[in-house]
Amino acid sequence: MIIAVASGKGGTGKTTVTAALAANWKTPVAAVDLDVEEPNLHLFLHPSITGTEKGYIEIPEADERMCTSCGACAELCQFKAIALIGDTLLTFPEMCHGCGGCIAVCPTGALTESSRELGELCHGTSGDIAFHMGRLRIGEAMCPPLMKLVKNEVFSSYENDSRDVILDSPPGASCPAICAVADADCVVLVTEPTPFGFYDFKIAYEAFSVFNKPTGVVVNKAGIGDMQVYAFCEEHNIPIWAEIPYDRGIAEAYSMGSVITEAVPSLKPVFEELTRSIQESVHA
Ligand code: SF4
Ligand code: SF4
Repeated sequence: MIIAVASGKGGTGKTTVTAALAANWKTPVAAVDLDVEEPNLHLFLHPSITGTEKGYIEIPEADERMCTSCGACAELCQFKAIALIGDTLLTFPEMCHGCGGCIAVCPTGALTESSRELGELCHGTSGDIAFHMGRLRIGEAMCPPLMKLVKNEVFSSYENDSRDVILDSPPGASCPAICAVADADCVVLVTEPTPFGFYDFKIAYEAFSVFNKPTGVVVNKAGIGDMQVYAFCEEHNIPIWAEIPYDRGIAEAYSMGSVITEAVPSLKPVFEELTRSIQESVHA
């Protein structure tokens, strides 16, 4: 089972929920930080990192001597990462998504595979929890290609065992968040019951609901704000799977990099119930 923990915006407690969910999961589990721009799940799970490697994307390299300026590559590239200005072929490696289409259509073999470093992939363990994360290279603008490398590593590692996978998704509802949610069997949407939280929650829900996956909500800092999130969930038949109260002990645990259920044991039943709801929604 693959669970994506997502949120409409940063700072809502998505990583806190991922860490506590992984720490309280009763069967073998992998916790994966797909927030490659700003990974911080490791700050809570404190994993021992056992392996690190660089991740690359394949980009085209042009041999101008073989180029006939036919324009086929520039016409194909929807990302404008390769362009023909007059007879001059220009490539913009930082805009390339590595689809390989231009290399495939080039009739003269003027384009060959080169590579661009995206960042690094790390894996390790935190107690019984398998841990994976990606970290984008400084200056690299695109998250999804590195996220895909992390996901490939994770999914190939566990395709033949029963380990469940919890993905800590990037915040928001744009390409990186969609990239994380797309492979999940179920989506846990973390939000705060404030007007700003509700605004972003709605956008995220609308973006993710096109996948038609089982989705439930975790209301973090329950007790502050207003009831808009609750009213929206009732209207759209979205279950509230857990409420985490606004509590000083939880805030302190967070600031000290602790798993909240270890610092505040009264939260354990909340996460046990959340786990049950997730499992029931997937197996329904
Ligand atoms: S590999 Fe794909 S994205 Fe990159 S330049 Fe070629 S067509 Fe464009
Ligand atoms: S497809 Fe090949 S030959 Fe045509 S413009 Fe691009 S690099 Fe040059």
